[in-house]
Amino acid sequence: MKQTILFIMIIVSLIVVATFTIEQKKQQQITIETEIGDKIIRKLESQYGSFIDYEWSDDNYEKYKSLVVYDVKHSQLEHQKFANNKTVKHKDFVGDTSMHQEIWQDFKNLFDQEYTNSVEVLEITTDGVGQEMAAVESIDDLNKTWTLYIDYQERKNSKDYYSTLIHEFGHLLTLRDDQTNQFSLKTSFCFTYQVANLCSLKNSYINQFYKRFWINLEQEWEEKKVGEDDYENLLSFYNVHSDEFVTDYAATNAEEDIAESWMYFILSLSDEDYGERVKFFYEYPELVKLRANILKKLAIEYPKSNGV
Ligand SMILES: [Zn+2]
Repeated sequence: MKQTILFIMIIVSLIVVATFTIEQKKQQQITIETEIGDKIIRKLESQYGSFIDYEWSDDNYEKYKSLVVYDVKHSQLEHQKFANNKTVKHKDFVGDTSMHQEIWQDFKNLFDQEYTNSVEVLEITTDGVGQEMAAVESIDDLNKTWTLYIDYQERKNSKDYYSTLIHEFGHLLTLRDDQTNQFSLKTSFCFTYQVANLCSLKNSYINQFYKRFWINLEQEWEEKKVGEDDYENLLSFYNVHSDEFVTDYAATNAEEDIAESWMYFILSLSDEDYGERVKFFYEYPELVKLRANILKKLAIEYPKSNGV
């Protein structure tokens, strides 16, 4: 009997020690990757200034136009399926296929293929500088494949351009098929955060983020009709909670909030206090590693584009 108790005690102690060691290793890994990312940000900021606190020029609006559309396969531009031959102003750009490749490379060179492979259509657009900069939209019902929209004129504001690409990537990361329940279309009610017609997985980033930051806001958000694309409504909601959100745009809904907070997570130093939403990402070792990876690539890509 005594021997059995001793045996159980040894096993329990071993499990406790093992769990402690795993947790310690996880924390160590987070610290190392955080420091790698911070180091790159310090270097980029010393040369080019902050990527999130800046003024962008927005005085050059035009009517929204689609310019070229490509099918993308395995992260390569394949077939050009549309070219806007009516535009006079952007005629040179429409004919410049090497420029189209460069724009795709801007995105492709920043993120791992695991993610860029989800993009199956690239649509290059313009509406001048500073309005609709980029977007992603699911092509299929299951969020497996995506269209990436990029306004080529945004390249003129290169810091803004890169931070927008990081924001769009945040949507892919949090709304893709690996974050959602593929069987949920059959049910009419989600017990987790609903992503279009899908229910997010219980442990998905968006569901955890929603549970922590949005459940208590939802009633007020609905009462103020923030989701109805009216900037006045958005502002009246944002002004009450401005210390919680990283930007006014983040108050649009949980999906924009997580994408904006993600962008701040990537582009700000870990010891800068942008609130709980940005700290949220530091709880995930894989995201802290992804941050360091994206920043390593940004440090190579950004100097190439600077001054475009
Ligand atoms: Zn967005």
